[in-house]
Amino acid sequence: MNIHEYQAKQLLKGYGAPVAEGVAILTADEAEAAAKSLPGPLYVVKSQIHAGGRGKGKFKELGPDGKGGVRLARSIDEAVAHAREMLGNTLVTAQTGPAGKQVNRLYIEDGADIARELYCSLLVDRSVGRVAFVVSTEGGMDIEQVAHDTPEKIVTVAIDPEAGVTDADVAAIAAALKLEGAAAEDAKALFPALYRAFVEKDMSLLEINPLIVMENGRLRVLDAKVSFDGNALFRHPDIVELRDESEEDSKEIEASKWDLAYVALDGNIGCMVNGAGLAMATMDIIKLYGKEPANFCDVGGGASKEKVAAAFKIITADPRVEGILVNIFGGIMKCDVIAEGVVAAVKEVGLEVPLVVRLEGTNVELGKKILNESGLAITAADDLDDAAQKIVAAVA
Ligand code: GDP
Ligand code: MG
Repeated sequence: MNIHEYQAKQLLKGYGAPVAEGVAILTADEAEAAAKSLPGPLYVVKSQIHAGGRGKGKFKELGPDGKGGVRLARSIDEAVAHAREMLGNTLVTAQTGPAGKQVNRLYIEDGADIARELYCSLLVDRSVGRVAFVVSTEGGMDIEQVAHDTPEKIVTVAIDPEAGVTDADVAAIAAALKLEGAAAEDAKALFPALYRAFVEKDMSLLEINPLIVMENGRLRVLDAKVSFDGNALFRHPDIVELRDESEEDSKEIEASKWDLAYVALDGNIGCMVNGAGLAMATMDIIKLYGKEPANFCDVGGGASKEKVAAAFKIITADPRVEGILVNIFGGIMKCDVIAEGVVAAVKEVGLEVPLVVRLEGTNVELGKKILNESGLAITAADDLDDAAQKIVAAVA
């Protein structure tokens, strides 16, 4: 689950991280009061969408130059003018895809004078089984590009879970970022605080790009992107409250209510599968035969008939889906339960696209019998290869 920048900053502020004063607004009428409450004379007007690259992004409605989704203003009037121009319009960035995202919320912040822009993120480094800091002096820009062109400029410091962030870790991170004086002092509090926030809140990613050294030599968190581990959300009701469903795919929200592993993709073959490995293999084989999956939908091990029906309804509700492939290997999951779920869902919502079903494993004969006797137009397949070829042919 992702949250907005202003929410991430509020959260980090609670851990003592240095962030600017700011006010989130939903209407342009609030912009003046928001700016007036800040010290000035520099203000930053920032689009709040769940995507990065906002500074270099362009608003669809504002012509070819489209201006940016993060703008500096040197007066209250200028900040208000930016807010009027940005709110309600569609921002396209390198991360939103060509459709862009509507900006419904702005964050008006006290502007900083920047001396240096750095990169700092925390993530779970699975190769060493630890939370690691990934830092670089090359902040503010596309970190993937830095990793590609100058990998030596990215430094990773993995943290021992028992010791936490030690003085030696802070020194290593500070040295990698070439921090001196006041910034090096700030680092002693900041890096342990970020680590604490990451672990206590079960984050999967905390990315600060840029972390800045200001003209006065102090550190400030200028941008913040936080993702939380969905499997741990049950123990963080305060984080769940921060969810902005308008930023999420409505089908993914419905899926999360049913505890389905569902990810919307760009193709037109809907997939209902059990187990992530089988889901991946199914997507691969659809691509091998020349089509693209419309989603990744894993109903998991011991799904009920109701859960299967919910999954099937989510898949059929996607107007891009031109055909559905149900590919189940019944181990813990029973094939008859899958069949009952599919039949129940189709009876409720109808079936307007071709459906290919491949069942294998526990209670497979009973599952096939239920499908055959349902009177539904279902194409049966013998194996994965056969199933993929049949659904690709059916939607071609
Ligand atoms: P992103 O483009 O979505 O990553 O948004 P950021 O929050 O990282 O802002 C983009 C860029 O705007 C930063 O890299 C800075 O160069 C600039 N920027 C943001 N806030 C300030 C500020 O307070 N002062 C100055 N001078 N520039 C800022
Ligand atoms: Mg940024």
